[in-house]
Amino acid sequence: MRKLQMVDLKSQYDKIKDTVNASIQEVLDNTTYVNGPEVHKFQKNLEEYLDVKHVIPCANGTDALQIAMMGLGLQPGDEIITADFTFAATVEVIALLGLTPVLVDVDPNTYNISVEAVRNAITPKTKAIVPVHLFGQVAEMEDIMALAEEHNLYVIEDNAQAIGANYKYADGSKKKAGAIGHVASTSFFPSKNLGAYGDGGAIFTNDDDLAYKLRGIVNHGMYERYHHDVVGVNSRLDSVQAAVLNAKLPLLNDYNKARREAADKYNKAFAGHADLIIPFVQGDDDSHVFHQYTLRVLNADRDALLKHLQEKGIPCAIYYPIPLHKQKAYADERYNEDDFIITNQLVKEVISLPMHTELDDEQIDYITSTVLEFLSV
Ligand SMILES: *Cc1c(COP(=O)(O)O)cnc(C)c1O
Repeated sequence: MRKLQMVDLKSQYDKIKDTVNASIQEVLDNTTYVNGPEVHKFQKNLEEYLDVKHVIPCANGTDALQIAMMGLGLQPGDEIITADFTFAATVEVIALLGLTPVLVDVDPNTYNISVEAVRNAITPKTKAIVPVHLFGQVAEMEDIMALAEEHNLYVIEDNAQAIGANYKYADGSKKKAGAIGHVASTSFFPSKNLGAYGDGGAIFTNDDDLAYKLRGIVNHGMYERYHHDVVGVNSRLDSVQAAVLNAKLPLLNDYNKARREAADKYNKAFAGHADLIIPFVQGDDDSHVFHQYTLRVLNADRDALLKHLQEKGIPCAIYYPIPLHKQKAYADERYNEDDFIITNQLVKEVISLPMHTELDDEQIDYITSTVLEFLSV
């Protein structure tokens, strides 16, 4: 059996080596390492793929979120509602900009931000909602957009984990994750569904004025060379990363399909087990692109299972072990434990198994039988 990895980037690279190498070689030959033609080409390719008017490439997914918030003109004191159960980048940039993070609980089925909890957290100071499409599944965007419209709020999608996922509206129509809110961010960190070979990120929007602002902010607030109209940052996707992404974007749908197929195989083995809750998929199959395959372990010692799997050569991880409202940096006496019942439970029960595009049947069988064996004793 091939060695198990949480993410197998080497096997994936081996299959696309010629295309990726040729794409990188072009950058080496034309020496436009920064802002080269590859970056512009990737921007156009991604705009077309997502069916969104503007893609603004930048240095990473955390910058993308920060720049999106800067572009919206959010001011210190403005309250930004986001999920308690996510990676810290989301709340970090809110705090960095002097905005007030308001963490709320998540949905017990999808683990995405609870629309009801958002509704209850809205105050006259609320300016934006940041849904995170956690583990690859799009949040309940139709309800979130309606709520935002009702209260005149911005919606910033953190799409770092769900690029390529489709959201299905009640009328059956579909849009790509990241093309629904006022603005969205994503990350091309190597392990993400569309991963570069280093850091990278992007911001998406359909709003022409906002896109104009964002293009200046990523480039030191310059709209005209050496004229700095606003305070900006320096955040660029470099040409080598864009070259890698140009080679990989045409494969994204196949990659997401491979992840879904691996998830289906896991599900087949685990469905109906009294000690496990398998991932819930809302809408059609293509609404979840399985950035992670995350189980909930009931009536058993999750940490002992984690240790057992690791001893058996199966990498696995806890995403996420501590709710953000309990992190030292983001704890606040405003928070009440009764408002975080689901997150507090999830952090004790979740475990994420290896999930990537290169998992074969032998590997999945070994993983599933090792999990089931542990639970049967
Ligand atoms: C990975 C990730 C980010 C940050 O992306 P970087 O490129 O690592 O800065 C932000 N939000 C979520 C939900 C993520 O998973």
